[in-house]
Amino acid sequence: MSETIPSLFMRIINREIPAEILYEDELCIVINDIAPQAPVHMLVIPKQEIARLVDAAHSDQSILGHLLLVAGEVARQFGVDDAFRLVLNNGADAGQTVFHLHLHILAGVKGSKEFSEANIGSW
Ligand code: AMP
Repeated sequence: MSETIPSLFMRIINREIPAEILYEDELCIVINDIAPQAPVHMLVIPKQEIARLVDAAHSDQSILGHLLLVAGEVARQFGVDDAFRLVLNNGADAGQTVFHLHLHILAGVKGSKEFSEANIGSW
């Protein structure tokens, strides 16, 4: 019998691991990244566990769209809607360390070259 181990983010969603939850609805949560790479570094995480973007199916279209809309909403809520980046790492070689699809929202270094080249994952 095979049992799947819940991802780290699923354990945060289930309140088994503490995190700073900034936003929540029926489909996703937004938390502060524990190791921020920019002054504002939030993660948009679907409650449905999809390991990587390439593992998403056409039936996941609405949840994927929802994540983008929520990213825009929380960017507005946190006052960074004029300048932010979205990053999604797909696969270990692209820097993905948590295999539960998520968007990084990075913001807060206006006009900084360092920010525009922010090193998310190993790039
Ligand atoms: P990725 O490398 O794209 O898979 O991103 C995973 C992100 O999750 C990294 O930026 C980590 O800093 C972040 N992270 C890992 N553990 C936690 C945690 N307990 N709470 C919040 N963020 C976390």
